[in-house]
Amino acid sequence: MLGQMMDKPLLISNLITYAAKFHGDRDIISVETDASITKTNWANINERAKKLASALGKLGLKAGDRCATIAWNNHRHLEVYFGTAGGEYVCHTINPRLSAEQLGYVINHANDQILFIDKTFLPIAVGLKDHMPNVKQVILMGAKDEEALAALPNIMFYEDLIASGDADYQWPDFDENTASSLCYTSGTTGHPKGVLYSHRSTLLHSYCVVMPDSLSLSALDNIIPVVPMFHVNAWGLPYAAAMTGAQLTLPGPGLDGASLLKMINEYQVTIAAGVPTLWQGLLAALRETGAKIPSLDRTIIGGTACPISLIKAFKDDYDVDILHAWGMTETSPVGLVNKPLIKHLNQSKDEQEAMAVKQGRPPFGIDIRICGDDGSKLAHDGAVQGELQVNGYWVVKDYFNIEADTTLAGDGWFATGDVATIDGDGFVNITDRAKDVIKSGGEWISSIDLENLAIGHDEILDAAVIGAKHIKWDERPVLLVVLAEGSSLSEAEILADYVGQVPKFWIPDRVLFVEALPHGGTGKLLKNKLRDDYGDCLL
Ligand code: ADP
Repeated sequence: MLGQMMDKPLLISNLITYAAKFHGDRDIISVETDASITKTNWANINERAKKLASALGKLGLKAGDRCATIAWNNHRHLEVYFGTAGGEYVCHTINPRLSAEQLGYVINHANDQILFIDKTFLPIAVGLKDHMPNVKQVILMGAKDEEALAALPNIMFYEDLIASGDADYQWPDFDENTASSLCYTSGTTGHPKGVLYSHRSTLLHSYCVVMPDSLSLSALDNIIPVVPMFHVNAWGLPYAAAMTGAQLTLPGPGLDGASLLKMINEYQVTIAAGVPTLWQGLLAALRETGAKIPSLDRTIIGGTACPISLIKAFKDDYDVDILHAWGMTETSPVGLVNKPLIKHLNQSKDEQEAMAVKQGRPPFGIDIRICGDDGSKLAHDGAVQGELQVNGYWVVKDYFNIEADTTLAGDGWFATGDVATIDGDGFVNITDRAKDVIKSGGEWISSIDLENLAIGHDEILDAAVIGAKHIKWDERPVLLVVLAEGSSLSEAEILADYVGQVPKFWIPDRVLFVEALPHGGTGKLLKNKLRDDYGDCLL
């Protein structure tokens, strides 16, 4: 039919081209592995990303080849994001906290051809060198370095590679459904599974990320993605920043509270993003120094549930809004964002706090439902719990290169493995991971709610609730806590705090005091390990 629109593919190279053309002089601040600071901008990132893409071609890479990164959040990592995807290669970001066995597994499973590493992770590359037969070239993300050469004689240096690139390189055009990046899930049980994003899904996800009712980004923002670029593409922020021309302040290895505080104030950061433990660190640094963070407008928190104590501390003491969001590697990751509806604006403070701990509602592009064990669709009444399932433009269809896939529900929805309620407005409350639910006498008890209340206590640094086997009730909750130094908080005092805040039968049967709790590569509690160690403590 006549009179239609241009058929222009949704390509990641268009994001960086736009940022360079219309926001070229906007700063990109980057902390290097040696803590020095590099100041660059979107125009330079584009230039160097193009040179990188052309240099990778000269190394013999073919369209679709995977390039792995083990790197911090810094400007070279950003260039690799755009240079690989823009050049029609795939950027495979790897979490350095994976075990040696898992690192070897994902590199070989992805069939990575190139491995980019920051100097910090040189020992990982040395340890893996005989276990990654398909990697043609390891590239150190920096200038020539004698120590690296001594450790890995065949290593190449990123700055040499850029110097060999073609300044006149043009980004190629191709189908928007082409793969652009690859992330593996943390794999707490079994092997990690790969999620392969496309140019199309990444651009649509970026549009979602910048929307006002989502993470709400604009050209006026300066974003510090503290969430690592190896963790679901730093929640898509590098792409979304390019889409808006926002500034990026990339913190490198400086993820402690004091370093973040310095970066936020020195560069006038407006938005931060990361998992709750990072913000506990920033709060501690703020309280210790008495400093304020006047430029910071909001902090995006996800990855695990966000305790109300954290939300209140940031709002009441520092006037920073916490934006609670939910997502998974399989959802790119943004799936739910806690943004109010008009009816919520006149709520009482208590009602607003009850809302704030929810994971939020779906932005356009994501659909949600909850289902029972038998697959039946359950009511969205805010009370009935079921498995959260999602469907959308940036939700995984099949895992990368795995034949038998058991995760998609029969009718094409993705089963998240999270247990949740959904209210009439679509607000979701995640109560547990399905594998962590506590069923006591046939009733569900939310370990997340119990943990959040415990962590709200000033003298409790970390908390986990597991279902321990019980002769009469099948399972009963047991709380494990890490106390702050010098605290003499007793079991009775901790349990007394629950009275009136949760149904009586939720109150844990026991409190165990431990030195530390085990967290996996992306900061999540390893409850299977806790159940192995403490699951019989009530028998
Ligand atoms: P990521 O790598 O982004 O952490 P994973 O795929 O490893 O993603 O884990 C996703 C899981 O993290 C979700 O299924 C959910 O259990 C948990 N999660 C993410 N965000 C939240 C949140 N805001 N509240 C509670 N749980 C969350």
